[in-house]
Amino acid sequence: MADAPASQALFDRALAVIPGGVNSPVRAFRSVGGTPRFMVSGTGPRITDADGREYVDLVGSWGPMILGHAHPDVRAAVDTAVSRGLSFGTPGEGEVALAEEIVRRVDPVERVRLVSSGTEATMSAMRLARGFTGRSKVVKFAGCYHGHVDALLASAGSGIATFALPDSAGVTAATTAEVIVLPYNDLDAVRAAFAAHPGEIAAVITEAAAANMGVVPPLPGFNAGLAEITHADGALLITDEVMTGFRASRAGMWGLDGAQEGWRPDLMTFGKVIGGGLPVGAFGGRADIMAHLAPEGPVYQAGTLSGNPIATAAGLATLRGCTDEIYAHLDATARTVGELVAAALTQAGVPNRLQRAGTLFSVFFTDAAVTDYDLARTQSTAAFAAFFHSMLRDGVYLPPSAFEAWFVSAAHDDAALERIEAALPAAARAAA
Ligand code: PLP
Repeated sequence: MADAPASQALFDRALAVIPGGVNSPVRAFRSVGGTPRFMVSGTGPRITDADGREYVDLVGSWGPMILGHAHPDVRAAVDTAVSRGLSFGTPGEGEVALAEEIVRRVDPVERVRLVSSGTEATMSAMRLARGFTGRSKVVKFAGCYHGHVDALLASAGSGIATFALPDSAGVTAATTAEVIVLPYNDLDAVRAAFAAHPGEIAAVITEAAAANMGVVPPLPGFNAGLAEITHADGALLITDEVMTGFRASRAGMWGLDGAQEGWRPDLMTFGKVIGGGLPVGAFGGRADIMAHLAPEGPVYQAGTLSGNPIATAAGLATLRGCTDEIYAHLDATARTVGELVAAALTQAGVPNRLQRAGTLFSVFFTDAAVTDYDLARTQSTAAFAAFFHSMLRDGVYLPPSAFEAWFVSAAHDDAALERIEAALPAAARAAA
């Protein structure tokens, strides 16, 4: 493509050796079209592509870069760790310190185990829930993404307690047969599923606030209701905070919801921010449940690079940098960016709906209040694509899909906001 020749040349090389030219599908720009930008560097709120073009970044590596790119404290922590050696495959102090920081911040997490991705975290939490309860069925919600775990790659069926059909070739029907997919934010559907399968459901897994169909916060009482229904049946509640953890607030989405309403999940999953840009995931929760993991208990789980010293150093420095002042800044910045976008779209006559869960937000290209996956899919993806490309041309890098959350960082300053504001009128007109 003429406007990104160096990225296009790299993409051509990539296509020859990597399926689709990318190592994670959304990076390929399939839903917005055009040449994916190959990034070469980043500082603070900005990233620079192979053609030397600079963008204000509203993706932040899909969440981890909460302090901004190349943050000095994170770099220093990584440099120190690197100078001591890259990996030992033994216990180390860094992983203990990261686990302590997680346990300190999130009350329901009494014990935590570190893994290397969010996918591993949800996969392991689900195995543990099944091992602990001796039950096999799992409930998930349509539009919630929990990584590419076979059994959880199942999306919406319609109606109540639809048994999931695989969303991906290669996932067998037998794998998803034990997964019940329900509409998000629908407690009646959850009650009906438990009534139909008493004593058979090991766990309900939910994003603590759905953020993989755009941001769809739980309706008031939804997560509390899930805790009540699951516990009444002896099942477990797993809240997936891979996206929201340590971003929605200091204690993630739970800090804004469970801590206020007085409910607790049994297990939680984390990723993204706790690695500060390096591969870290975690799952944790009640000590009695976590005691079922090997080597204490019968549920096996392991990893060659789990608790890697470089990754845990980056994660710990990132978490320690996430102070109350930083959360206040993220909150104000998310509000400002969201409101600027919504105002520009409204001014241009483009239907829009700003939705937030703590400091996470997205703008839907519809005016419906989006509470579930069906409603999320009523938005205009064509209008989003036009908006996306205009913003990109004017130096703002948005998630290349209408169904993703937008991420601000501690480094988004007035200059970054001004650049976003300046790009908005033309993008809104393009979307009209
Ligand atoms: N769970 C949620 C809520 C996520 O948003 C993601 C990734 O975006 C995952 C799990 C999977 O994490 P990873 O991509 O690190 O495997």
